[in-house]
Amino acid sequence: MTKAKRSSGPTRSRGLTATRRLVVKIGSALLVDEASGTIRRDWLDSLADDVARCRARGQEVLLVSSGAIALGRRHLMPERRSPKLEEKQAAAAAGQILLAHAYQESLARHGITVAQILLTLSDTEERRRHLNARNALQTLLRLGSVPVINENDTVATEEIRFGDNDRLAARVAQMVSADTLVLLSDIDGFYTTDPRRDPGATLIPEVTEITPEIEAMAGQARLGHSSGGMVTKLQAAKIALASGCRMAVTDGTCEHPLAALEEGARCTWFLPSSEPRSARKRWIAGSLNPMGVITVDDGALKALANGKSLLPAGVTAVEGTFERGDAVVVRDRRQREVAHGLSAYAAVDARRIMGHKSHEIETLLGYRGRDEMIHRDDLVLS
Ligand code: GLU
Repeated sequence: MTKAKRSSGPTRSRGLTATRRLVVKIGSALLVDEASGTIRRDWLDSLADDVARCRARGQEVLLVSSGAIALGRRHLMPERRSPKLEEKQAAAAAGQILLAHAYQESLARHGITVAQILLTLSDTEERRRHLNARNALQTLLRLGSVPVINENDTVATEEIRFGDNDRLAARVAQMVSADTLVLLSDIDGFYTTDPRRDPGATLIPEVTEITPEIEAMAGQARLGHSSGGMVTKLQAAKIALASGCRMAVTDGTCEHPLAALEEGARCTWFLPSSEPRSARKRWIAGSLNPMGVITVDDGALKALANGKSLLPAGVTAVEGTFERGDAVVVRDRRQREVAHGLSAYAAVDARRIMGHKSHEIETLLGYRGRDEMIHRDDLVLS
């Protein structure tokens, strides 16, 4: 029995207005005019209007945009139909400038600063780079800008490419604990079969679990400029749902596509069973291999019980060899396990700052790291 529901419900349209942190993926087919190979400026301006409206009501927005290769190809090699990898890399280099410039101009109409981030698969998988990317994205959001993200196509070889921005967008959503991901596509949702070939294809409005039947429905559809069909959208949905992030697939070709989604445009919502915060905490509590032990004093123990972060001042011992971002066990002075968490400092640095006030960190280490040894968002009590 599939867990897909075919009835519409009020929860879906609330998805966007109830969002705190939103990732929107823009497919090449929406942004680049097929005939002229140029950016559809009116459409982009309408998307920028939508983004500005979301931000005006306090929501944070990150954009994952395709289009670099499609744009660059038209400029560098208009005749080339199926470019080789190095030609795609060259096209991406030329196209990315045009792409970033267009976003910068469109969002500047609303006084919004755009920041470009180019990521590869390893940036989202390797712990240290993942942390750096995550910190940079979070800082950009805090400073009020809209990150515009794409794959770093010029340095990604075939083996280490995402290859499609659906999965990249889901990884970004996971990285920043977004609660909503919207894939703006040239198809209005997830269908039982390919709607261009089968008139009997039905749109599934809501999916709460990716069952084998749902996977079988995805087929291998490839649409317009897009490099991913429904298969990559399902892969993105899996990543999103596992991170507690809801995901919508909707047709973004109309102007003001986010407003349209809010007003109940046709779409498929993939709905997770838990919120991003609890999904992340479950992950910290359960699936990690602790690399060290941090022992804390009674004062820190009390602070942790009250939902506070662990500060270096309350740490009395650090055991093990771990890097920044690794999982550690927190114990009290009787060596009872009290929590699991991700250390903001490598073991060597943690030993140097333990027992010290946070304002002394810079003098002790020569750089200014976080005030907390383990931030409360990265901590789960046992
Ligand atoms: N990163 C590619 C580009 O900007 C697009 C990948 C995709 O469309 O999924 O051209």
